[in-house]
Amino acid sequence: MDVSYPGSEASRPRRARQETTQAAAETVAEGGPLAGVLEFLCRTMEDESVDRVIACIHPLNEDATVFCDTAAPGLDRSYREATDGMLVSTLTGPCCYAASTRQTVVVPDVAADPKWVKFRAFADPLGIRSCWSTPIFSNEGNVLGTFAHYYFEPRDPSPRDERMIELFARAAAVAIERSRAEAALRALNETLEQRVQAETRERLQIWNVSQDLLVIAGLDGICLNVNPAWTVTLGWSEADLLGKSSQWLLHPDDRERSRAELDQLAKGHKTVRFENRLRASDGSYHWISWKAAPDRDRIYAMGRDITESKRAQDALSRAGAELARVSRVTALSALTASIAHEVNQPLSGIITNAETCLRMLDATPPNVDGARETARRTIRDGGRASDVIARLRALFSKREFALEPLDLNDAAREVIALFSNDFQRNRIRLHAELADDLPTVTGDRIQLQQVILNLLRNAADAMIDVADRPRELLIKTERESGDGVRLTVRDAGVGLSPQTLDSLFDAFYTTKSGGMGIGLFISRSIIERHHGRLWAEPNEGMPGASFSFSIPAGN
Ligand code: ADP
Repeated sequence: MDVSYPGSEASRPRRARQETTQAAAETVAEGGPLAGVLEFLCRTMEDESVDRVIACIHPLNEDATVFCDTAAPGLDRSYREATDGMLVSTLTGPCCYAASTRQTVVVPDVAADPKWVKFRAFADPLGIRSCWSTPIFSNEGNVLGTFAHYYFEPRDPSPRDERMIELFARAAAVAIERSRAEAALRALNETLEQRVQAETRERLQIWNVSQDLLVIAGLDGICLNVNPAWTVTLGWSEADLLGKSSQWLLHPDDRERSRAELDQLAKGHKTVRFENRLRASDGSYHWISWKAAPDRDRIYAMGRDITESKRAQDALSRAGAELARVSRVTALSALTASIAHEVNQPLSGIITNAETCLRMLDATPPNVDGARETARRTIRDGGRASDVIARLRALFSKREFALEPLDLNDAAREVIALFSNDFQRNRIRLHAELADDLPTVTGDRIQLQQVILNLLRNAADAMIDVADRPRELLIKTERESGDGVRLTVRDAGVGLSPQTLDSLFDAFYTTKSGGMGIGLFISRSIIERHHGRLWAEPNEGMPGASFSFSIPAGN
């Protein structure tokens, strides 16, 4: 191995020691590539030495097992190549010893010490006669490398040498640690950079593949960036949109509202979801549901095409409206049928009375008293007909809940009067057991009568086909324990099957061909509005059913 020593001993001017250490410190402080700094330290050390010396620094890898990045400016490249990658554990030379034992190794005379036979193979050809190797420690006491000095005659370090070595080993430690920190920082930066790139790629992918309309706009609403979904969904290209506000795309009816949303965003408020219609390139309008948020001078918005669900919603509400209309028509026809049915009886009475009256007046001599009496009956029947109409209208009207103190017996009597013709016609025998001690209740008279009327009508309907027993109908009021009142309607009709019992009070449950199935449903809601209860039960030990409601007195 050739010892190259660029610049001869004589030609290299020796600097003052203070100057030298100052320069070494500055070089280390300035940083730069580790090799350059370490080589500078070696050179300076060589310059400082009284005797001819070659200084080498052997940094270790992070886990202190292998030498790497050797700095040996006084030796040729082959030395570096031989040393880099050498395992500390081989213990072939003083540096390996110094690194593994953490002790300075001083070999004053290589030739005289049999321990260093292997090292002599390297040292002898170069004329190296003595070698010192000092571990370079980090602040934490870890070995960062070794600092080696090769002399060309047998030699022990002088106290000056020791001080210089300590000083330069310290400088080398700083340089190696700084280099490691820089490498770690570089690795970290690279990882961060890779992460940022990956995230950007991911965002870009979301941006590109998202089916939602994504847009970045300025606070003035001018489009700065749009994703490909705009082309897929609405048929507009970037060129159509960028640099313009979206006003021209908006349905005229949505412009003002959308402008207001944009103003809110420009003021830095997040918007709750809002919807508007955007025109597609084919002229059709798409319903878009937006979510947008401002960030500094940008607005980020995401819009989902909800045209289909809007259509479905519209269809649903159209169907709902149609259903409501049909129900109204059905209710109306039921009302008409009821009116016709209820009014028919007094009307035929009126006609019969009027005919009788005419006959009596036409008789010779005219039967004036008889005619007067039949005219009175005509008036009575006319009054009854108009009464029926008034009550049926009340039954179907949607008037407000009007509370008043009332006697439930009176209310029941009025309904019974309304029905008496009907009952007679259908051969129904009605018994009324109305309690004398019934307390006054507070309630809506018309609505409670509506309930009673519904219970009586159902009872009559339930007995329409009964032929093998009397069609007995009982209406009963009683004072309840506590302070309530109870009204019961008991019939001898078809009774209640378990299935009917389950569904009786459901809206639109009916077993009648012309039934609507809302009577009991409405009745229950009326009773509940009176803080009461409506229930049904099969009669015990006899056919038919009993329907009862109870309401608190004076509620
Ligand atoms: P609808 O107009 O169909 O009679 P309701 O809600 O008043 O509507 O009654 C619902 C159903 O409850 C009836 O169709 C019938 O099947 C049953 N129901 C009501 N009252 C009685 C009763 N007294 N006896 C037997 N079944 C009854």
